Amino acid sequence: MARYRGPVCKLCRNENEKLFLKGERCYSAKCGITKRPYGSGQHGQSRKKLSEYGLHLREKQKLRFKSGIISEKQFSRYFKIAARKQGVTGTNLLQILESRLDNVVYKAGFAASKSQARQLIRHGHFLVDGRKVNIPSYRLKINQEITVRNKSEKLLKSIMEDLSISAAPRWLAVDKDKLIIKYESVPERDELDPTVKEPLIIEYYSR
Ligand code: SF4
Repeated sequence: MARYRGPVCKLCRNENEKLFLKGERCYSAKCGITKRPYGSGQHGQSRKKLSEYGLHLREKQKLRFKSGIISEKQFSRYFKIAARKQGVTGTNLLQILESRLDNVVYKAGFAASKSQARQLIRHGHFLVDGRKVNIPSYRLKINQEITVRNKSEKLLKSIMEDLSISAAPRWLAVDKDKLIIKYESVPERDELDPTVKEPLIIEYYSR
C-alpha cells in the first residue's frame, strides 16, 4: 500500500482519535474530529465492534499515520529492523520512528506538522553535520546536529514565529536562536507517546 494522499482529518475521524496531522489546526475549534466526532462516509456514524485482528490492524495504522503516514512497505521494514535489534521490539520500533529527520524537525518546533517538516527537508533547507540532507526518512544517530542553511534562516524563523508548540522533548537539545537541533539521546519508552499500544502492533506482524 502506497503513501496515503487523501484528506488527513478523515483518518482521525475513522480512528476516532486525534492524530495531530495538521499542525496548529489540530489544537483549534476547526479540528475535523471536534466538528464531526464520527467516522467519515455514509456509514461513519455506525461504528462496528472490531475483531481481534481489526484491533491489531487499527493500532498499527494509527501509529503509521501518527508517524507521518509512512508507506506500508516502509513501516513494515521498520518493524523488521526493530525485531532484529536487541531489546524490546515495540520500544525499538518507536525509537526508530522518533529518529527520523522529519520527526525531529517537527518535535524541535521548526515546523507546524510532520508534513510541513517533510516539505522543508525535501526543499533542502536543512543540513545534518554540515551536509545537505533532503531525505525526510533520514535516521539520525546520537550527537548528530541539524542546522539550517544560511539562505533558509529567514524562512525558518518566520515559520517558527507563528508556532505555539510546547517545549522540545528532553532527548533533543534545541537552540531556537541559532537554529540548531542536536539529537542527544535515544528516547526511553516513558518519553514516548503513552497512547501507543505497541503489543497490538507486534501481534499484527506475528500473524
Ligand atoms: Fe486530526 Fe488535526 Fe484534522 Fe483534527 S485537525 S482531525 S487532529 S488532522
